[in-house]
Amino acid sequence: MTKSAVLGLAETLLPELVALRRALHQVPEIGLDLPKTQKLLLDALEGLGLEITVGRELNSIVAVLRGEKEGPGRVVLLRGDMDALPVTEDSGVDYSSTHEGAMHACGHDLHSAGLVGAAKILSAMRKEIAGDVIFMFQPGEEDPGGALPMINEGLLEAAGRPIDAAYSVHVHTQGLPFGVFRSMPGTICAHCDEFSVRVKGAGGHASAPARCKDPLPAACEMVLALQAQITRSFNIFDPLVLTVGRFIGGSKDNVIPEVVEFGGTIRSFSESTRSLIAEIVPRVVRGIADAHGLEVEIDYVPGYPGCVNDPNEFEFAKDVVTDLFGAENFIQSTTPAGSGDDFAYVMQHAPSAYFGVGAALGDHEKAAPGHSPQVVFDDAILERTSAFLAELALRHSRETA
Ligand SMILES: [Zn+2]
Repeated sequence: MTKSAVLGLAETLLPELVALRRALHQVPEIGLDLPKTQKLLLDALEGLGLEITVGRELNSIVAVLRGEKEGPGRVVLLRGDMDALPVTEDSGVDYSSTHEGAMHACGHDLHSAGLVGAAKILSAMRKEIAGDVIFMFQPGEEDPGGALPMINEGLLEAAGRPIDAAYSVHVHTQGLPFGVFRSMPGTICAHCDEFSVRVKGAGGHASAPARCKDPLPAACEMVLALQAQITRSFNIFDPLVLTVGRFIGGSKDNVIPEVVEFGGTIRSFSESTRSLIAEIVPRVVRGIADAHGLEVEIDYVPGYPGCVNDPNEFEFAKDVVTDLFGAENFIQSTTPAGSGDDFAYVMQHAPSAYFGVGAALGDHEKAAPGHSPQVVFDDAILERTSAFLAELALRHSRETA
């Protein structure tokens, strides 16, 4: 009964969720400062009887729904991110971005609108809910990270007691058929860290290297030595990617430069590998600098941790997908994604699950990928994403009341 009620409500809500999503799509905002986006979402949540607080340092929204069913129930957190990317839209849709240089190219407009849909469904069904639901509308997922500031501003205590479970869903285009959900237990997306190295020597005439301290060959050695470490110091079944994507040194063919700089990104999938590479990078770089008698500065910047699906919550959410939409609409991933998501910070505080869902318009094999200026998402997916999120909270409440 409840299952069909959720799907029925989601179907009814679809036209207004599509309208909301298109309104969000037209005013994409980047980072933590999203006043227009926040206003549209606050307007959409009005009248639902939610306890709403907005962020102090960022345009976040935290909305709490109090269930009216007897029993302590649980606290379930549902999350949708709100921010866009610095991409100039070239999708050709008639609701394209009106903000030059900004686009909802990752589908976060769908995430926010889907979360509003879940809030509307659950508000209509609050008599069947024991416990509380927290709706987390998060800025800055792409950069610089909004989940951590929201946690620091009290997100996890919004219901007055700790959260018991947390969920988020991300839309995809390429490679995933429309409406099909995908996830796996354990690590589902990468730990993403960055580093930057500055090798300082003594510049001079290229014809007299003995009178200089050339940082260039040493910096080249460092880049190659780091790659060698990947194959020599790590478990081959625990993947790791280290890419130096920036290398800057020298200004002229006959001048030995004073300084060479390079930097890169590291993606890892386990805590042990993540901490080992964080030790190895400075050690290798310093060792080579010492060998050449050069000075070196290393800036190692931990980024978003990986998203780790709790095995039980993964199964729970998978059952929700297969019960609502049929087993044919779930694919279990065999490998995690190399991308990151700062929802990971929330996932560290409660058993959680993070799912992907196909939302390409037309043939998903030919679709432009997320982050592309040409990407087009089919907003009919809002019916599924809002039902999925609502059912997760509802079922938690029912099973534990
Ligand atoms: Zn995204």
